[in-house]
Amino acid sequence: MSLPAPVIEIRNLHKSYGSLEVLKGVDITAPAGHVVSMIGSSGSGKSTLLRCANLLEDSQQGEVIFMGEPVTWKGSGMTRHPGDKRQMIRIRTNLSMVFQQFNLWAHMTILQNVMEAPVTVLKRDRAEVEAKARDYLDKVGIGDKADAYPAQLSGGQQQRAAIARALAMEPKALLFDEPTSALDPELEQEVVRVIKALAEEGRTMVLVTHDMKMAADVSDHVVFLHQGKIEEEGSPEELFGNPRSDRLRGFLRAGQ
Ligand code: ADP
Ligand code: MG
Repeated sequence: MSLPAPVIEIRNLHKSYGSLEVLKGVDITAPAGHVVSMIGSSGSGKSTLLRCANLLEDSQQGEVIFMGEPVTWKGSGMTRHPGDKRQMIRIRTNLSMVFQQFNLWAHMTILQNVMEAPVTVLKRDRAEVEAKARDYLDKVGIGDKADAYPAQLSGGQQQRAAIARALAMEPKALLFDEPTSALDPELEQEVVRVIKALAEEGRTMVLVTHDMKMAADVSDHVVFLHQGKIEEEGSPEELFGNPRSDRLRGFLRAGQ
């Protein structure tokens, strides 16, 4: 069975911070409509990989390919050739990121938070953006919070606002970096429900999570990262039901 074309593809990615080699040749593919989850211990390089995928970070070696279009660094040296700033903006706006700490703008209402980038970055029509922003807020279940400020919302509501903000960019894929890690268990579930609904809609997502149950429920493919390398990958049934490596078995045991 052939897979849909990838939205984002990472090949043999190497990333170091100074002498610390964080990613040691990682390959990840997110086919359109699929959910790929990344699991692994703290420090294994998951956030770095997401940041490299949407070009918040440069890398030393390897390829990032967005919708079949290679991003323009390749090989060693990290030199981006001139003119790729527009490519970078296009890719970033098409890969919306949702962070652990929500990162909402405190001085803006929830509605303004959701509208900001489509209006200022994508230069979309304000009235249209507002109508869609309200739809996305309804979709994540906080339509009634449009005029509130982030500090007036619970963590779960703030994270759902951040998801609405990511959706408002109408991206080709969503990248989640531990979206439920900062939440109390009872608030976690409301965010998990939203992520599940997005997966069922067929959105392309790369999901870094410590929540193995959510990863098992929503993923088409799961990648276990260990010290900057893929230690094991496969379907959720394979990875969670029949882990092969001692490291994955140990990791899964430790999480219980
Ligand atoms: P994870 O998300 O899996 O917990 P990270 O990608 O955040 O892991 O970090 C991987 C490693 O890279 C860690 O050792 C971390 O300390 C290091 N690291 C991450 N970001 C930076 C940075 N900006 N500068 C230096 N080291 C970093
Ligand atoms: Mg991280």
